[in-house]
Amino acid sequence: METADLIVIGSGQGGIPLASDFAQEGLRVVLFERDVLGGSCVNYGCTPSKAFLAAAHAAGRARQAEKLGIHTQVSVDFPAVMQRVRSIRDSFNQGVGKRLEDAGVKIVRAEASFAGERTVTGGDVTVQAPIVVINTGTSSLIPALPGLAETPYLTNRSFFELKELPPRLLVIGGGYIGLELGQGLARLGSQTQIIVRGDRVLDREEAEVSETLVQAFEQDGIKLHFNTKVEQVAYKDGIFTLTLDRGEVQGEALLVATGRKPNTQALNAGATGVELDDRGYIKIDDHFHTTCDGVYAIGDAAGQPAFTHVSWEDYRRLKAILSGEERTRSDRVLGYAVYTEPQVGRVGMTLEQARQKGINARSATLQMSQIARAIEWGHDLGFYRMVIDNDTDKILGATLVGYEAAEIVHVFLSLIEAGATWQLLERSVHIHPTYGEALPSLARLLIDNTNAKPTPPMRSEPRGSL
Ligand SMILES: Cc1cc2nc3c(=O)[nH]c(=O)nc-3n(C[C@H](O)[C@H](O)[C@H](O)COP(=O)(O)OP(=O)(O)OC[C@H]3O[C@@H](n4cnc5c(N)ncnc54)[C@H](O)[C@@H]3O)c2cc1C
Repeated sequence: METADLIVIGSGQGGIPLASDFAQEGLRVVLFERDVLGGSCVNYGCTPSKAFLAAAHAAGRARQAEKLGIHTQVSVDFPAVMQRVRSIRDSFNQGVGKRLEDAGVKIVRAEASFAGERTVTGGDVTVQAPIVVINTGTSSLIPALPGLAETPYLTNRSFFELKELPPRLLVIGGGYIGLELGQGLARLGSQTQIIVRGDRVLDREEAEVSETLVQAFEQDGIKLHFNTKVEQVAYKDGIFTLTLDRGEVQGEALLVATGRKPNTQALNAGATGVELDDRGYIKIDDHFHTTCDGVYAIGDAAGQPAFTHVSWEDYRRLKAILSGEERTRSDRVLGYAVYTEPQVGRVGMTLEQARQKGINARSATLQMSQIARAIEWGHDLGFYRMVIDNDTDKILGATLVGYEAAEIVHVFLSLIEAGATWQLLERSVHIHPTYGEALPSLARLLIDNTNAKPTPPMRSEPRGSL
């Protein structure tokens, strides 16, 4: 049996930099990876999906340019679109391998499992180390639908291998993966139908977010089936048939995007005393520590908000903790985005979440149709909302639905991190005419409320909104 200073299981977004940094500092680091290096983000998540959406949204915008008086005929070279996606993905993937090798990390290309306390085995390698970090991520949760397993359905794993544009696409699932990829293929030319079990898409978001996306999707010609159950899946002569509780739908491709499950089954976590919760996620404390001494878990498998920037920030914090600093994981402001068009940018708490925590909160909402830039550019679907604490005036959260909302929401990330009040945003002089200019206008809406305490200097007319 080998010994090392650090074992990392999984080359996810936190595991790669953690392994590289410590190896560069001279520690003996062994990293186990059972699949391609770089994990979900690089290979079958963020990178390929966003490269794919760049093409899809370009096609969508070209079609929508009609309303600006520009008439175009969109012709999609689907093989070229997907080839570009795969080549970006491959270049990112190669960069990961090089980074780990240059740092001196020993890479074991095998599925890892615990063989005892802080002892990990995979392939023909067994290693023991005082510190083990689990960064094994998640994979698609496939529902037990009759007939599904026998069909060549797509998940986010196989989606980016598509060589031809399916004339008709069926999507099961109204979460962000189904929506992004579904809208993407629709914009490239597939007739798309999305089957949703509940009564709205993105059901963890505020109702207005779901309603706005439905409007946008309908403009793209996407058919949404709400409150619909898939009872049977069949595949014959290149056609999928979904038997629904109400009717039947058909398509040449079927994307299953019904959620994620943690990659913890293969770990044999019990052998090292690591406990899982009832959904299989690794239990951790505020220092990423599992129930076994010396074993830590970061990223999606530890049940945290499943985003690349979270896993990466876990790495920074865990590195500090392992280096003897006092850091925790919970004192951070997190945000995320959905890359549909319009985009959804979220940070901090919604009004409902704040009130559930007993905070005396209120919100202001500005419709995109009130924002000069949005009208000028023809992207007037959506809204900006900010939640504040009435007692402290601090900004608690924001929901932005609109063009490039994923970029603009960063203003709120920094403001909340800084503990800023809404008055600070209100008196900021933002550039005209921009989407960002609407943010002080949004804050200004809070002035009319009797509880508000406006601070000078104030402008009599909000610019950037009508
Ligand atoms: C379609 C899609 C789009 C996404 N888009 C975004 C986005 O735009 N922005 C964003 O922030 N996030 C996005 N995500 C989420 C993001 O990809 C993940 O949150 C991110 O990769 C962090 O994951 P991680 O570090 O926990 O592990 P992962 O990146 O999932 O890596 C885990 C690695 O561990 C390996 N592994 C698992 N078990 C074992 C084992 N027993 N032995 C050895 N190796 C093992 C896996 O093979 C994998 O390589 C997207 C995800 C998907 C699926």
